[in-house]
Amino acid sequence: MEPIDYTPVSGMDLPRFAGIPTFMRLPHVPITSDHLSEVDIGLIGIPWDSGTTNRPGPRHGPRQLRDLSTMIRAENGATGVRPFEAAKCADLGDVSPNPVDMEDGLNRVQQFLAKAKAANVKPLTAGGDHLCSLPVLRAVAADAPVAMVHFDSHTDLFDSYFGGNKYTHGTPFRRAVEENLLDPKKVVQIGIRGTAYDREDIDFARAAGIRIIRIEEFFQRGIEDVMAEAREIVGTAPCYVSYDIDFVDPTFAPGTGTPEVGGPNSFQAIQVVRELKGLNLIGADLVEVSPPFDMNGMTAWLGASLMFELLCVMTQV
Ligand code: MN
Ligand code: MN
Repeated sequence: MEPIDYTPVSGMDLPRFAGIPTFMRLPHVPITSDHLSEVDIGLIGIPWDSGTTNRPGPRHGPRQLRDLSTMIRAENGATGVRPFEAAKCADLGDVSPNPVDMEDGLNRVQQFLAKAKAANVKPLTAGGDHLCSLPVLRAVAADAPVAMVHFDSHTDLFDSYFGGNKYTHGTPFRRAVEENLLDPKKVVQIGIRGTAYDREDIDFARAAGIRIIRIEEFFQRGIEDVMAEAREIVGTAPCYVSYDIDFVDPTFAPGTGTPEVGGPNSFQAIQVVRELKGLNLIGADLVEVSPPFDMNGMTAWLGASLMFELLCVMTQV
């Protein structure tokens, strides 16, 4: 096998606007490659939004996130972490999606992620709508339920939509609890806000033991205090991080399908990820970036920046 250089292409060597845009200019290691087992963290696109109930478009997310991620450099200026030196990172490509068959679409994501898990590769996925997190969890939590830190304006804990449809981007974590993929007592949801249909999701969370930290509490207590509680809830358990870009205020992240006003700014959005340092992170996702609603690409730029921050805490044990 020809050895692979896992150092991203530097903007000092090739201008960022040139070349084929892989995630963060990392090498592309296809999921079928014999090199897969060398990879520590695999960046994966899931161009699939068949769970969307309102404004569509996150199927176009991975491609735009790849494009904007070419602006990422080697070092985290705030924390000093150099993730591409701390771990072998690669772009594993996209899950080949099926936009017209729900069950097949879910299975394709799960099978791709199962291949990564079998090769001991931790996934950092780019959605796609939030339903993508369900088949990812079916793969990464196949052996035992995991803990989760979930940033979102919505709980995504509803039972069903449109007269009994169980698979939408408003239901993934309800299914994940039912399927024993999540340990609900080790799940914390941060940033919840906006108008509601009813309290069915909140009632489910309370009964299951899921901790919800609404945006009012988030701002009242402050990031450090809230994130200290989040770390305590998760403890040392294997932990998944799910980051819906609509956690961020739509002033900073307008390119998403279900925006809710009154959220964190882009700096606070990054700070919460840094506060995950030290957790036993087994995978993460960044979902719901919808390029058709992203007028100037800045939602995708924030999304790519958040993926970099997630990568940094995933490599910092
Ligand atoms: Mn969501
Ligand atoms: Mn949301």
